[in-house]
This record gives sequence, C-alpha cells and structure tokens, in this order.
Amino acid sequence: MKHSGDPILVASSVNINTTHAYQQCVSPDCAATYDVGEVRTSCDACGSLLDVTYQWDQLPVPDSLKWFEQKWARRNEPLCRSGVWRFHELLPFAKPEQIVTIGEGQTPLIETDGVGKYIGMDPGRLYLEYEGMNPSGSFKDNGMTAAFTHARTIGATKAACASTGNTSASLALYCCSSKLMQAVIFIGSGKISYGKLSQALDYGALTVQISGDFDDAMHRVRQVSEKLGIYLVNSVNPFRLEGQKTIMLRVLESLNWEVPDWIVVPGGNLGNSSAFGKAFHELHTLGLIDRIPRLAVINAQGANTLHELYQGRGLRWNEGSPDQSIIDKYYAELDAAQGKADTIASAIEINRPVNLIKCLRALDCCDGVVREVTDQQILDAKSQVGANGMGCEPASAASVAGAKLLREQGVIAPSDRVVCILTGHQLKDPTATVAYHTADQDEFERVLGSRGVSRAQFANRAVKVENNLDEIIQAIQLNS
Ligand SMILES: *Cc1c(COP(=O)(O)O)cnc(C)c1O
Ligand SMILES: [Zn+2]
Repeated sequence: MKHSGDPILVASSVNINTTHAYQQCVSPDCAATYDVGEVRTSCDACGSLLDVTYQWDQLPVPDSLKWFEQKWARRNEPLCRSGVWRFHELLPFAKPEQIVTIGEGQTPLIETDGVGKYIGMDPGRLYLEYEGMNPSGSFKDNGMTAAFTHARTIGATKAACASTGNTSASLALYCCSSKLMQAVIFIGSGKISYGKLSQALDYGALTVQISGDFDDAMHRVRQVSEKLGIYLVNSVNPFRLEGQKTIMLRVLESLNWEVPDWIVVPGGNLGNSSAFGKAFHELHTLGLIDRIPRLAVINAQGANTLHELYQGRGLRWNEGSPDQSIIDKYYAELDAAQGKADTIASAIEINRPVNLIKCLRALDCCDGVVREVTDQQILDAKSQVGANGMGCEPASAASVAGAKLLREQGVIAPSDRVVCILTGHQLKDPTATVAYHTADQDEFERVLGSRGVSRAQFANRAVKVENNLDEIIQAIQLNS
C-alpha cells in the first residue's frame, strides 16, 4: 500500500504496523528471520550479523522523497523535529509512542569551497555533513535513538556498550535524559579523549574501565551483557544502523533529493558505511532514488583492517559468501604479531570491525572503494575543516583526507559532487587540536606519539610575548 502523491499529510507515522518488521540474517544462504521483539546480535543458525528488514508492500511508503517535506511544517512535534524520526516511514520497526527522541539529527550539510580547494575540487562540488552538531556531539545519536527505542520496546532497564568514547557519551545522554535506563559503559585503558569520557561521567553512566584496548572491551561487553541480560547498544545492534540510515536521507534532503556522486566516510566498526549502503539499497528498491552514489570508506593507517582485506587481499561480498579464510588468516596474523590498532583518530582505532560483512555488502551495492590515510594526513585535513569554520575530531577528518587522496589518484573527478561525513565535533578531542597547533616539534611528538606525524603544516601557533604593552602591540603588528 502506497500513499498517493497527496501533499496533505495523512497520518505520517501513525500507521506503522510493527508486525511488518523483522530481523533477518544477512547471509542470503541462511536468511533466517527473527521477531523484532527479540534481543540478539547474531543469527542463531549461522552466527552471521542481522539486519532489520521490512515487508515494504504491507507498509505505508511514500511515493517520493519529497513527501517528507511536509513534516517540516510540523517542527513542534518531536517526531517531525528529529532528523531521524521524520523519516520514520523508512525505519518502521517501532510505534510512534515507543520512540525515544532527544532532538537528534538536526545536522546541516555545508557546501565549502575552502575545504573543496584543499581536496582539489571545483567550486561548489564539496559538501560536509556536519554530524558533530548532534546532541552528544557525534553521529552516534542517530543510531542511539533507534537502539534505545528498541530497548524500550522490549522493556530493558540497563543498556551497555563498549566504546572508544562517542557511543558511550551518546548512550549516557539518552539514559539520563529519558530516565528510562541505566547506562553501563566499557572503555579500554588506552586512548579515550577527555571530551568523551567527561560526557559519560557527567551524564552519570556506570563506567567500567578494563585493562585492554577497544577490541578487548568489545569482547567483554558482549559476554557480560549476555550473562546479566543487559541490552547491548554497540553497532552489532541492527537497530542502531536503522537510525544511521537517516544521515543519508538528510544528505539527499539537503541536496533537494539529488543523489551525489560520492559519499566519503571514516571506517571504524563500519556501522555507518553499512547503514549507508542499506539505505541506498532500500531507497533504490523502493523506487525513491534512480541511482546509487559511490561509497568511499577511509581507514586510518594504524587501524586498517578493511583496507588490508579489501584492497590488499581482495576480500569481497561475493553474493553473500565472502571468503572467511581470508579474514581468519588476517586475524591470526594480527594475533601472532600482537598487532594493536594505533592512530590519533581514536574513534576509528579498531582492528576487528564488527560490521565487516555488512560493509562488504555496502561496498558491493555502492561500487565502493577503500583507502587508508596517515595520522599526518588526518591532522592536516582536520585543520582545514577547522579553518573553514566547522571543526571536527581527528577520526572525522579521515573522510576529508581520504577524499583528497582519491582526488589525487584521479578516482574522484574535480567536477564530482562529493559529500564527506564529519562524524564528531571538534571539542571532543581538544588535546589533538592543541598539540597540532601550538606545540614545538618535540612536544608535538611527545603528545601525539611517533606515528609518522612529522610536521604541523597548518599550525596556528600562539604568539608568546612578555607582559609589556609595547611588546604586545609590536607582536600584534608583526603577526597580522
Ligand atoms: C564511531 C565513530 C566513527 C566510526 O564509525 P563506524 O560506524 O564505527 O565505522 C568515526 N568517527 C567518529 C567521530 C565516531 O564516533
Ligand atoms: Zn544465519
């Protein structure tokens, strides 16, 4: 059943019938299904990841994406104001009255010739999707509102995640705003930026710091949630990815529903890239877009599992049967070398991306490419995002650095329309920013470690001057 092109909004979200949503194994050979009311992070039958899928022909799907514009006139209603839930018809797994929203997803798509020039684009062709403007300062809120909503529908009282920082900040915020659940967060004892940790502590989350890195924390949180029956909101949670689909819907909305040529996104646990691929696949299947943009997933060189497997070893989705032996062999090598992820971009410092398989599917669907960038490239790109008035944390700048690399390689043309995702806010990780701009070389290397970051090309150093009026005036005149 489809809405007619009727411009008058009839029951935007009220017809959602959640019996037409279910969970399904991503492996086409298995395709086992489970009720949306079940809490699971993998398929019982084969161990693969799960999707949330819908019987679209039983659901009220609009005829065109333009239909969603009528919700703008109803911004006083929380489900229309939310940049996630105004697209409820495209993630209809919960009833409107079950949804938990804190106004997430009101994020701008910004055209920037300054950053475009740095990348090597023609004027008017580069856009940054500024997800740092979410309530907790990162794109994670898009997914958290969806997972949290699901947790509520099944009556959870505690929710847990392992996190490099932003997932825990987001979960903690949803818990304390809604008072519906207690947040339990697992962090490793390696790098976590103070911006993110401070949020989790301020929002009152039970914070468990274990000795180990993110991959260790992830392993433990899965065990503990299962043992204690705590709801797990990591991006193995298929409902989170449903919320993250809407990042692409807002990109399209900002482009007047025109499909760009490229989406460039940092790759950590690969939830975003997976969600974007699912979004475009569904929109295309539903006839709401006529073509699918290309997807570029950018790893940091110090955490480059996807790049190594996809570009280096030829791993592919392969119609749903990716060669598991390539993956197993790589992880065995990592273990043997005791390889730990290491990058300034702490949000993507992940060696075992949980959504690897789904990301392969997205790359297949979106004719994707994978690249890796160095910490030097990331920090230089980040400074350009800041210098042009947006600002982001290091991991986010991987998208800009990756777009620049792809432009240099001639994969992206200067006339292509490119959207880079800025995943997290500048203030999440001030340490990296300040170190880049102010420190002398020794200090820079001490703070950032010896990761091949050798110079701060765009450093904006503080001018040091004696507390003396004449000298201050002279310093300003000399430097301006
Ligand atoms: C979580 C996160 C990422 C990684 O996203 P995935 O979906 O896990 O690939 C990138 N940047 C920031 C700022 C993040 O918080
Ligand atoms: Zn299965």
